[in-house]
This record gives sequence, structure tokens and C-alpha cells, in this order.
Amino acid sequence: MYEGDIASVLISEEQIAERTAELAASIAERYPEGAPEGDLLLIGVLKGAIFFMTDFARALPIPAQMEFMAVSSYGSSTSSSGVVRILKDLDKDIAGRNVLIVEDIIDSGLTLSWLIRNLSTRNPASLEVVTLLRKPEAQKIDVEVKDVGFDIPNEFVVGYGLDYDERYRDLPYIGTLHPKVYSS
Ligand code: 5GP
Ligand code: MG
Ligand code: MG
Repeated sequence: MYEGDIASVLISEEQIAERTAELAASIAERYPEGAPEGDLLLIGVLKGAIFFMTDFARALPIPAQMEFMAVSSYGSSTSSSGVVRILKDLDKDIAGRNVLIVEDIIDSGLTLSWLIRNLSTRNPASLEVVTLLRKPEAQKIDVEVKDVGFDIPNEFVVGYGLDYDERYRDLPYIGTLHPKVYSS
């Protein structure tokens, strides 16, 4: 599939599954079942986080509910500007809930810091973030992320939800894209 477009496999399907199970087990310990806030509410950020969201939710040993948001950050297809627009908002009120944002990748961190500010104004009981991937640049911006699947080099990656021009999301692993793909 996608013959010749992928330069290397950065994180395999097995590594993703193993790390997701670890994250789910440790995060679940922070949310005791039967808490007054009700079930943990996972907020998946479309479209990149869909694969991680569904695998993470199934790996969690506690009940969790799921909501989705779609945001678009103005910029080129490979970098974001921090100017964010909501394409699809949450269907439900999150006031008083324990909320966990499920992200695919934190690059500049601009999208996430905007999202945290936006969701905070809706008065959740708690608001935390789990991200599958994080790039070094993300350290520059002040967003508190307790749970990171993998810190990766500053390279453009695709697969497992992540796209280049809407392609490659359906790859089961995270890979780097061959430079010829951008330049063609
Ligand atoms: P940030 O605002 O943190 O710079 O970037 C957030 C969004 O940019 C991510 O949710 C993702 O959609 C996109 N992005 C950042 N880095 C990459 C990457 O290496 N590959 C892909 N496919 N998307 C990326
Ligand atoms: Mg994202
Ligand atoms: Mg994208």
C-alpha cells in the first residue's frame, strides 16, 4: 500500500498497541469508578485522533464516554498557525465532568493550548490531555500534558490517523513520508 511513499516505519502497530495499553492502565488509576463526576469523558479531536481514540477507549479498564470535536488551524498542510476555528463543536455540556482530551500529535502546541483554553471556560471538573505523539517544538509552549505516548523527532509523520492532504490516515503504523511526496 502507498508503494514507495513511506520512507520509514517510525512506530510499529505493535509498539502503538503496547504503549496505548500502558497509558490506559495508568490513566485509569486517576479516575476511580463511581466518582461523583460520573464516567470519564473522552474528547477526541477529529480527524487525526480517531484511531488512537478508539484503541485507547477499548484499552481503558474503566467506563468512558466519547465526544468529538473538529477544529481547523489555519496554515499550510504541514504546519499550524494557532488561529483555530471550530468546525464541529461538542454535542454535550461538559460542566462538572472529568474530561480527557485525546490528541494525535502535539507539534507547536498551538492547537492544543487554544483547545484547553476553550474547554476550560465550559467548567469541567477536571481537564487533562493524553497525546499519542509529541514533537520537541511542543516543549516551547506552556501546555501541561501528563501523558505522552511517544516523543518523536521533528519530522513530518503520517499513518494511524495522521494525514498528508487527507491521505495515509489508514496506515496501521506511524511512518515518515518520502520527501518526493511533498515536492511532486
Ligand atoms: P500544532 O498546533 O501542535 O502545531 O499541530 C496540531 C496539528 O497539526 C495536529 O493535530 C496535526 O493535525 C497537525 N500535525 C502536526 N505535526 C504533524 C505531523 O508530523 N504529521 C501530520 N500528519 N500532521 C501533523
Ligand atoms: Mg490533533
Ligand atoms: Mg492534517
